[in-house]
Amino acid sequence: MEKIYFVGAGPGDKDLITLKGYKLLSQADIVIYAGSLVNPDLLDYCKSGARLYDSAGMNLEEIIDLMREGAEKDLLVVRLQTGDISIYGSIREQAEELKKLNIGYESVPGVSSFLGAAGALGIEYTVPEVSQSLIITRIEGRTPVPKLESLKSFASHQTSMAIFLSVQNIDGVVDQLLEGGYPADTPVAVVYKATWPDQDLVRGTLEDIAGKVKEAGIKKTALILVGRFLGHEYNYSKLYDKYFGHEYRDSI
Ligand code: SAH
Repeated sequence: MEKIYFVGAGPGDKDLITLKGYKLLSQADIVIYAGSLVNPDLLDYCKSGARLYDSAGMNLEEIIDLMREGAEKDLLVVRLQTGDISIYGSIREQAEELKKLNIGYESVPGVSSFLGAAGALGIEYTVPEVSQSLIITRIEGRTPVPKLESLKSFASHQTSMAIFLSVQNIDGVVDQLLEGGYPADTPVAVVYKATWPDQDLVRGTLEDIAGKVKEAGIKKTALILVGRFLGHEYNYSKLYDKYFGHEYRDSI
């Protein structure tokens, strides 16, 4: 019986899939792709005759049935999901169902959208002495978030944040971040469809970002990046400092 390959499709740009993901996709007999977010141009890599299924309109049972059919017939099945599969990938339930059926799987990482967004902005989340941690989170919506992980509680750290799945409630995000302790002048960037041809960037502060996002008409497929790493303040790292020696280089 063949195993199933979960492949991260990358954030949008069809060149941002890994070589390993590309090879699997181009050899796959069955591809189940998350059509709501995966760039359809990636399907150009599939061989002719590959069976392509958009999972947007499918439920878990239907997805698992297809995977089982492929595994039983020794076909190469690729489950193609946006960004990296380990971030809001709904992968756990698929993996658990496969385990029940004794079907193996392998995960192939992808470039997550928070990395695509960093590329689009040309920024570093971990600027020396400004921020050395990145919180990846979301606001609660129809999917609840554990109480101890509220945006408000994370805001008390005032570190870098990449907030997924939340732009539709930008007002709620801003309220919680301000209540939690970020100053109102904290820089914010909202990146819509990072690395896609219709990518859009909106920059502001916690004070004015909500209005700007609404004005730009951004309601989904966006990341809210928050923190002083987006500001003008920075420090040089020690790594390349000529007065700072380390294992690979002596100081002058
Ligand atoms: N596994 C994906 C995330 C899936 S959850 C990843 O690693 O990126 C879907 C959310 O991801 C969207 O609501 C949005 O917040 C974010 N997202 C996905 N692709 C994006 C892109 N190209 N640009 C900005 N945000 C994106």
